Amino acid sequence: MAKQQVESNVCKSCDSEEVSTMQLWQYFFFVSTLPVIVTVTIAVLVEPIFFFLLFIILLINYRVAKKKTPFTMCRSCKQVTQGGA
Ligand SMILES: [Zn+2]
Repeated sequence: MAKQQVESNVCKSCDSEEVSTMQLWQYFFFVSTLPVIVTVTIAVLVEPIFFFLLFIILLINYRVAKKKTPFTMCRSCKQVTQGGA
């Protein structure tokens, strides 16, 4: 049985160990929260048709998230590296 690998990444730019790996669902949640709030607000207040737009936004965000994740971000210098741990 392969044991769970502990994240031991270091930043390629500043050698900091303060890096975090962004997974698909985290990135998806991150990029979706604001658009969802805005779109739902508009849909409720102005026009219910915007609920359809919500599905399109979520679909696009999912595809973007799938393409971009996983990636590693340094908390010290904000360096972003493609590819996960
Ligand atoms: Zn760094």
